[in-house]
Amino acid sequence: MASIPQTQTALQINRTGGPEVLELNPSAPVSTPGDNQILVKNTYAGVNYIDTYFRSGLYPPSPLPYTLGREGEGTVVSVGSGVTDFKVGDYIGYTGLNAQAEFTLVDPTMAIKVPDGIQPGITAAALIQGLTALTLIRESYEVKKGDAILVHAAAGGVGLWLLQLLRMAGAGTIIATASTAEKLELAAKNGATHGINYTTEDWVARVKEITGGAGVIAVFDGVGASTFEGDLEVLARKGTLASFGNASGPVPPFSISRLAAKNLKVLRPTLFNYVHTKEEFTTYSQELLNLIKDNKVDVRIHKVYELADALQVHKDIEGRGTTGKLLYKL
Ligand code: NDP
Repeated sequence: MASIPQTQTALQINRTGGPEVLELNPSAPVSTPGDNQILVKNTYAGVNYIDTYFRSGLYPPSPLPYTLGREGEGTVVSVGSGVTDFKVGDYIGYTGLNAQAEFTLVDPTMAIKVPDGIQPGITAAALIQGLTALTLIRESYEVKKGDAILVHAAAGGVGLWLLQLLRMAGAGTIIATASTAEKLELAAKNGATHGINYTTEDWVARVKEITGGAGVIAVFDGVGASTFEGDLEVLARKGTLASFGNASGPVPPFSISRLAAKNLKVLRPTLFNYVHTKEEFTTYSQELLNLIKDNKVDVRIHKVYELADALQVHKDIEGRGTTGKLLYKL
């Protein structure tokens, strides 16, 4: 094992703003793991829409300079004295902070060994978006056979996972929205039974039409502001809106009494409150990696970038031109 350097290249921000605030710092410090931490030399780091929220300041980045990145995979190069389940040389995937860098300090609670048979990059590509989709369909609204479900931004990272998992769970009507015909075609290949271009069609009317006026029993919405009002309209009586993201901006405050019209439930879930303990992380991640290993899901990689391409990465994901996962190769 090569010795661990004192400095490294990391993708950072020193202030919030547009993609131009992204900086590649060639001399960021490499930390020494505390008792219950491991140091990982990354080979891949995932890109998630949340990276743009920290960069823009929608979610406050702290402390500054702030190293972006919430998931990665790589080789353990050092372990704290209290760590028993990982050793130097293990190849792991993890969720956490500061993954878009050569080295990352990882909490072993949120790490898992990559099993044989999974291609390099796929674990870093799958963890956050896959776990988000898996916990949404189990815990935000437990999907049942025959359910009619609406998924917004269905050709995106989380969206493609949701479609595949909904198909597997036996949902009867899986309605996908997206902004282009190509994206809707991809959604259909991944399990959508119906597709709506929500930028050109009256998607609320179309959902009602597809469901014979009954509406859907759940909406999985990572789009936020622009779809929220329509979501309340297309939900069936006793339906659930899982509003899990803000790609178009955050949902504005609303009066709780509006839910009385159909006894609706509205949740604003985060992955890290479903996957919080070691047991929760390991159980869900193991299931996810088994699905990949057994070829039951396709992890679609939009493109593999270098950290130096970060400006383009943020323009690409915010520009709505991507499908599936964007990855950094370290
Ligand atoms: P995506 O790959 O889905 O990219 C975002 C997509 O949102 C775009 O491709 C676009 O699809 C759609 N979109 C709709 N309106 C806009 C807009 N105004 N500007 C930009 N994009 C828009 O990203 P991710 O899979 O990484 O994340 C999807 C959502 O899930 C995000 O909101 C993210 O924050 C959230 N998320 C939440 C988690 C949680 O724990 N709560 C965890 C992980 C993700 P189209 O062009 O088809 O409209």
